[in-house]
Formats: sequence, C-alpha cells, structure tokens
Amino acid sequence: MRTVVVQHPLVAHKLTTLRDETTDSATFRLLVEELVTLLAYEATHQLRTTPVTIQTPVAETTGVHLARPRPLVVPILRAGLGMLEGMMRLMPTAEVGFLGMVRDDDSLIASTYADRIPHDLDGRQVFVLDPMLATGGTLVTAIDLLLDRGASDVTAIALLAAPEGLRHVEETYAGKPVDVTVVTAGLDLRLNEKGYIVPGLGDAGDRLYGVV
Ligand code: URA
Repeated sequence: MRTVVVQHPLVAHKLTTLRDETTDSATFRLLVEELVTLLAYEATHQLRTTPVTIQTPVAETTGVHLARPRPLVVPILRAGLGMLEGMMRLMPTAEVGFLGMVRDDDSLIASTYADRIPHDLDGRQVFVLDPMLATGGTLVTAIDLLLDRGASDVTAIALLAAPEGLRHVEETYAGKPVDVTVVTAGLDLRLNEKGYIVPGLGDAGDRLYGVV
C-alpha cells in the first residue's frame, strides 16, 4: 500500500479551517470541495492514458486522452458525497458509482446499505471518496467489494487519516494482487474511545450536512 500525505500550504490552510469547530456547514462544504480538488490532482498521477494525434490551429501534434474504460469514482455515502463535486471538477469524464455504508456506533463495524457499483470493474481505476479514514473498517469493506467485482487498482482519497486505519488497510492487502493507494491531507495522532480521529474535525457528515 502507498500512502501520500499531501504537503502544500493551501491544503494545510484549508484543512485548518475545516478542523475549526466555528466553521459553519456552508463554508465547510465549500472547503471540502476545494480540498478534494487539490488532493485529486495528487491522487490521479497514475491515471492511464492513450496517445492521440490532434491538429492545433498551427500544426499536427501528439498528446494523450484518458484511457478506456473510464475511471470510476465511488463516494461512500453519506459524507463522501460532499467530496464528489471537487473530484468531478478535475475529472469530468469519469463515471460515478455509489456505496452507502454505515458504521455501528458501538462495534464500529461498517455495513453496506446501498450498492450502485458496476458489476464488472476489470481494468478500471477506481477512486474511493471517504473523508475520514478512522478504523479503516469502512474502507476495507468498500475495497473488498470492489475487488470482488474485478478491480485491481484502488485509490482512496481521505481528508484525514488515523495511523490505526492506515495500518488496518495496509495489513489487509499486504501481499495481495491489488494496488491500494491512500491520499490524504493529514495524518492525525490516533483514534479516541468512540473511534473519532484526534484531533480530527469531528463527525464529517454532521459538519457537512448538519445533525440529522
Ligand atoms: N467519522 C467521522 O466523521 N469522524 C471521525 O473522526 C471518524 C469517523
């Protein structure tokens, strides 16, 4: 597994404002979109391309287009939805599949309640959007489903990650025939007893959409 912690003053600045408990939901949503676009730039370094020949107004030249099959972006509902717009701004021709997952407050075990993912992911590069990589349980459940459908190249974009979660993902896929990359804006200290990232930013879904 590869972990990329993006070091950039704009990323650090936006992340600090996100963490601030006085930041309101409207500002939080906007900042998440901007931050994800910056993270997406890093996360898409290995996108596959095919060579093309085009005609500029001046001369013929060669360049590239994104390869087929198109990349698949998978926001994990609910909080991952807040990251979708920022990702699609950078990669508007990608396809989008949805996974609805919920984490039990006591056991911290993730279960799937909605699955709108294509059945054949052979040859697809998949980008999973989930703002908080905490225990890693949700991400592992999501990646397992993607692997079952034939994916072999999965990049997760998380605003924040905890060492415990990264370790869990790393140990789960060590030695397996899958490329897993995690791109995050920050690697935090630890999880607290409720499974929240410390210092973190609180409940990302609640911060995005308000408490339901
Ligand atoms: N989910 C969140 O929204 N926040 C955390 O800190 C951990 C999991």
